Amino acid sequence: MELEATTKARLDEALARAGQRSTRQRELVFATLLRWMDHPTADEVFSRAREQTPTISLATVYNCLETLVGCGLVRAVNYEREPTRYCPNLNEHAHFQDRVTGRISDIPLSESIMATLRTLLPPGYEADSLDLYFHGTIRKQPSKSTSKS
Ligand SMILES: [Zn+2]
Repeated sequence: MELEATTKARLDEALARAGQRSTRQRELVFATLLRWMDHPTADEVFSRAREQTPTISLATVYNCLETLVGCGLVRAVNYEREPTRYCPNLNEHAHFQDRVTGRISDIPLSESIMATLRTLLPPGYEADSLDLYFHGTIRKQPSKSTSKS
């Protein structure tokens, strides 16, 4: 699994800023996250990465994920009492977990919503990050009728 040149550059740059260097394993784990974008657990990343590189270990996958989170390329998504999941979407977004399937979706947050949320903070409070988690169920929307009557 090869990273596109621009993605590879983004990875190298973020790692360098954090005083780290790019390794084949870090590239593989990052590429695995970007390929599915479905908020996998470390175990899931491991089994996917192992299809590409059978010699990679779970400990290495954990280390790579930690490094990617540490350099700001990946977000750790923590729903209570569940293993951490990983998200490479760096646009501002909330997460919505469907109680029935456990599936986590990204809910985009506009600049104006983010600005409004920041106004909630008392003077002197500077937030580095904000995590917004929705819990619920996804009901099927009635499909729009296209029949002509
Ligand atoms: Zn996400």
